[in-house]
Amino acid sequence: MIFISNKKRLIVILFLVIFGILLFSVTKIYEKRLISKDNVEVINSYAPFKKVKSFKKENTERYIRYYEKNKELSYEDVVTHVNIGLDYGFYSYIKSSDIRKDNLVLVNKYLRLDKHYEPNDLEEISNEYFINGNQNTKMLKKEAKIMFERLSHDSIENKTPVYGQSGYRSYEKQESIYSNAIKQTSKEKADSDTARPGHSEHQTGLTIDVSSTKSGNMLNFENTPSFRWMQNNSYKYGFILRYPKGKENIHGFIYESWHYRYVGIKVAKDMHDNYPDLTFDEYYYKFIDK
Ligand SMILES: [Zn+2]
Repeated sequence: MIFISNKKRLIVILFLVIFGILLFSVTKIYEKRLISKDNVEVINSYAPFKKVKSFKKENTERYIRYYEKNKELSYEDVVTHVNIGLDYGFYSYIKSSDIRKDNLVLVNKYLRLDKHYEPNDLEEISNEYFINGNQNTKMLKKEAKIMFERLSHDSIENKTPVYGQSGYRSYEKQESIYSNAIKQTSKEKADSDTARPGHSEHQTGLTIDVSSTKSGNMLNFENTPSFRWMQNNSYKYGFILRYPKGKENIHGFIYESWHYRYVGIKVAKDMHDNYPDLTFDEYYYKFIDK
């Protein structure tokens, strides 16, 4: 090459460039043929999912596989379910909760909080609005605490009292509750009643179990007028029923009429007015997770 003339060198370079362009074009054409011949079926099968707003490209194959087993579901529901992680079993596809979402953080059987996570603005609920016992679990994050006290105050005035029974719980506290539950029943039963440590919403400081009496009757809450008052009013204070009836396959727990989650008034009202059938897990993946 050193001894060849400039003219010849130019010809060689030109030749290499043309050869490169040709090779690139042939590869592209070949790729296109592969898609149009062998993969047309695959592309057709994921096309409807692509139209769903919360479609995630990396989940494409999972949508198709989940749909094959759940053909009664709409494409939108398939996308939501897979985004939640329902195509895997509970606790078998675990990621970290996004605590930057603040009041809208999602904690469930797929998303967990760090062992050391503790809200930095926990405050005690006034005794006036809390049952007589359980004094070590009466904290909530400041905003949730203010709104819960307002809720409780108004419910008492309406003669349908709602008192806090169990608010913030640390990771360690949940660890002991969960291991006791296993000892008393079985792992399977414990998992439907109690969250594993790190997976409890109570660790967010945004969740509270409630009762209609000062002595605490949380497990019977559903049968009281206070429960009906909560159904019609809790959203006005930013609280939602977190584990509704008939949605156990989504949230993974038993129906809990006493367990409320603070999400702020805007989202609680939107869920109440426009999406009463969605659990927070579904709502999160449709509207909050970006
Ligand atoms: Zn609870």
